[in-house]
Amino acid sequence: MNEITIDAYAKVNLSLDVLGKLSNGYHEVRMVMQQLKLCDKVTVRKTGRGRREIFITTNVDGVPLDYRNLAHRAAQLMLGLDEILDGVEIHIEKNIPMEAGLAGGSADCAATLVAMNALFDMGLSTKALCKLGARLGSDVPFCILGGTAVAEGTGTSLTPVKGLDPDKYHVVLCKPPEGISTGAVYGKYSERMAEMVAKPHPDIISLVGGMSAGLPIKDLKKNMINVLQYITAEERPQVREIIYTMEGAGADAAMMTGSGPTVFGIFEDKEKAEFAYRCLAETYEETYLTSFR
Ligand code: ATP
Repeated sequence: MNEITIDAYAKVNLSLDVLGKLSNGYHEVRMVMQQLKLCDKVTVRKTGRGRREIFITTNVDGVPLDYRNLAHRAAQLMLGLDEILDGVEIHIEKNIPMEAGLAGGSADCAATLVAMNALFDMGLSTKALCKLGARLGSDVPFCILGGTAVAEGTGTSLTPVKGLDPDKYHVVLCKPPEGISTGAVYGKYSERMAEMVAKPHPDIISLVGGMSAGLPIKDLKKNMINVLQYITAEERPQVREIIYTMEGAGADAAMMTGSGPTVFGIFEDKEKAEFAYRCLAETYEETYLTSFR
């Protein structure tokens, strides 16, 4: 095998809580993540030139093509691990918006780890790949594991759980034009920790229990809270506007994912989802209609 293509799926956070700050500077989180069908496509091809070179190409502007790209770091880590004397060309067909809270970079990184493992017959288990992935980014292990999971600690300690039914719900994604840096959002949250602690926080154990019992969104909604939304919605007022538009169009729930600024709406009714999609797409270029995985 000389080439392999892997789908790199976006995720949303159905809930995200920040529990505190760890001594290493990272934040302790508890969140529920579920993958979406929206995906990048990552193709990894051996160069066969006997040198450990890594070339990245993509279909959009603004993606770093050097070591700053998480797919590059993943390839470098894997080549070094087995002292492989070969290089790779990585093509990333980017469909997931960037700086969006959808873990696009982490998904590409995860797909590259999985692709390299297969391409070079490295025989690493999913657990071993997740451990390597955690060195590259806290969302990477989830992107390797896939599906739906509760993530704790710095986000790398995962427990698979039952997700929302992909056949029952439609998901509308809408990203305000200006992205936001994850680090900056967590930084601001930390600075205002005392104020943030007093705001509503999700009961994630209840949420997961309700999801596994197959409760409808109206019964899950009170625990679908993303505490980072308190910060990002101040920086990007469109977050609230998009949530109102989605709710007005009949969303069963609408909230921000990750550090934002992308908002997602969950709709049981397909026509309502299509209506919300059309309304938002008039104003926001990066609007998508997708579903859970
Ligand atoms: P997360 O939800 O994990 O915080 P995000 O959706 O907010 O992710 P990404 O799209 O992953 O953000 O990208 C954030 C930054 O990471 C970009 O500005 C970009 O410079 C860098 N980056 C590194 N690798 C990639 C990649 N493969 N695709 C997109 N961005 C990447």
